[in-house]
Order: sequence, then structure tokens, then C-alpha cells
Amino acid sequence: MSGGGESTQVAPAVAGDYACIGCGYTLRGLPVDRSCPECGMPVARSLVGNELRHAAPAYLRTLRTGAYWLLVGTILQFVTTGLAFVCVITIVNLAKSWANLVPWLFEAADIVPAFLLLWAYTKFTTPDPGMSLKEQPGAARRVARTALLVVACSTVARFTLTTMGIHAQFTPNMTPKMIALSSTALAVVLIQWIAMIVQFFAVLLYIRWLATRIPDSKAAASAKRYMWLLPVLYGPGIVVLFAGPVVGLVLYWRLIHRIYKHLTDITGTGLAAPAVPSLSVPTTNG
Ligand SMILES: [Zn+2]
Repeated sequence: MSGGGESTQVAPAVAGDYACIGCGYTLRGLPVDRSCPECGMPVARSLVGNELRHAAPAYLRTLRTGAYWLLVGTILQFVTTGLAFVCVITIVNLAKSWANLVPWLFEAADIVPAFLLLWAYTKFTTPDPGMSLKEQPGAARRVARTALLVVACSTVARFTLTTMGIHAQFTPNMTPKMIALSSTALAVVLIQWIAMIVQFFAVLLYIRWLATRIPDSKAAASAKRYMWLLPVLYGPGIVVLFAGPVVGLVLYWRLIHRIYKHLTDITGTGLAAPAVPSLSVPTTNG
């Protein structure tokens, strides 16, 4: 290229849309041998690529914490739902007068795991400061977070309505007020279902994106495959003695566990990014 630039001692400046991996600060125009003026992260560390081993350690630790509690929360949700089933079967067989407790039991069983999972997913989908300039408003990560919040709010709303004795059921001779309350309950159920479906696809798209940054093409392929396989297992698969959803849950759990192990490896080895930016980094006046 231009021969004159090689003889000077001045480091080239960042020309592309790069954000600091530590804080998201826009690095355009800064010399590559400097540090971020906001957080002190060497500028060169933010220019080396999208792979997770180049990401900020604090960001990776947050993702790892999220993945860990996703593993715990998924098991907890399975156990509490199982316990609710046992309670319901007991009620149906032994204490028929408690039958009105059945819907409440299922919703109560979901409250604690739902909030544990909300917290875990929030950690797991935390924004990468280094991606702040690249992420689109419709990114799977953002969609997943919005859907999660809607699911959590509707879970609480459902639990509250059920506790008040309001169900999404319609019978003849209902007063307008009862119809309005039942319609509200029905709307909450529908909103929750839609948000859960959106969350499901957004989370898998996000996992796929994360897997490409590990990089783990097998995990990325699994995430892609589960977008159709898990709905099949949860839908038609439920007729086989609930085996479909259990298999789906195990597959999903194993995928998260695989990501968790990668995150543990990457944070544990402390593999630092090269101090010198690669030759492909676009610079001004090069
Ligand atoms: Zn910074």
C-alpha cells in the first residue's frame, strides 16, 4: 500500500465500527496501541474478532452464571411440575373436595422456577459490550429478553387470577362482570402462550449465535435442529406417555450444559487475546 506510513512510529487508528469489549465505548479514531478511555481495556483486544475467547472476562462470567442457573432452574421446574402432578393425582383419588385446588397447584408450582429461569436467562442473554455497535434492534437476544419478561408477568397474573378464583372458563348464565373477568384470564393465558413460543425460538436462535462464537458448529447445528424437533416432541410427542416432552427437555438441558462447559473452559483457561491486532484490522491512513 502506501510506503510512507510504514516508516512512521504513530500507530494506526481504528477505522471500523468497533466497540470496546469491556464497556461498549466506540473506538473509531483511537490509536490501536492505546487503552479505552472509559474502562482501560487495551483497544487492540477489542479488534481481534467475535470469538468468545476474545470477549471480556466479566461478560463471560455473567454468561456462565446464567447457564449454570438455567441448568438448575430447568431441573427445578421439572421437579415442581412432577410434584404438582403427584398432588393432583392424590387429590383426584383421595380428596375430591379439594379438586378446585388443581389449577392453582400447577400455577403455584411454576412460580419459583419461572422466576429463577427469568433471572438465569437474563444473565445468559446479557449484552456483550463488544457487540454494542453491531447488534440489531431485532436481535434474538433482545427478543428473547422481552418475551421472558412477558412470560414472567403473565405467570404472576395467572397465579393471581387463579388464586382469586377467576379462570378462563365460560358457562351459561354468566354476569357481564364474570364474562369480563374470564375474558381477562383467557387473554392472559393466550399472551403467556404466545410469549412462550416467541421465547422458545428466540432463545434457540441466540444459543445458535453464541455457539458460532465459541465456536462449536455441532452445538449451533443442534440449536437449529431443536427449533423443529422440540416442538414435535412437545406437541405430537406428548401422546407417548409424556415421553416426548421429557426427551425434549433432556436434549435442551444437554445443549445448555455443553454451552456451560465451553464457557467454563474459556473463562478457566484465561486465554488472553493477542496483544497485537491482526493484520486484517482496517485502519485509517494505513
Ligand atoms: Zn471500555
